[in-house]
Amino acid sequence: MLDSLKKKKGKRHCEMKLGLDRRLEPCSFTSEHVWWRGIVDLVIVDGEKAWIVDYKTSKSALYADKGQLELMALATFRYFPNVKKINAGLLFVVSNNFIAETYTSDMIVKLWKKWFSNFKRMKTAYEQDIWNAHPSGLCKRHCVVVECIHNGSN
Ligand code: SF4
Repeated sequence: MLDSLKKKKGKRHCEMKLGLDRRLEPCSFTSEHVWWRGIVDLVIVDGEKAWIVDYKTSKSALYADKGQLELMALATFRYFPNVKKINAGLLFVVSNNFIAETYTSDMIVKLWKKWFSNFKRMKTAYEQDIWNAHPSGLCKRHCVVVECIHNGSN
């Protein structure tokens, strides 16, 4: 997998720190106006195409979170406006899995809408200090919140 990444043409950015302000304009990661932050382990940009890769060290790719890839892809589109297609992947270096996804510029509006809706839910939870549990595949063996009724240790 690494050999295939190495062979790709384009400009490489390692550990790229991305920041967006409230208008989703790129800004410094440490800017006082930063509203969203993310770090992409590897970005390769070649004209209208880009690759983004995040390395994972967990033992299993079973509960891979593709949401992270979506956000990184959305920010990458903001940083490189010429990019029309992003091949993204979570590279699980221990279990040797590659969880891949493709994002195209026509998906941008729909994906931002989804994340703004998620953000609204989180903001409401924060303002009202109500944090409802959402059981998932992590509950049984992987969650550290032992106080939760859904935690497998209970
Ligand atoms: S056990 Fe953990 S992952 Fe499952 S609902 Fe509770 S807090 Fe969420």
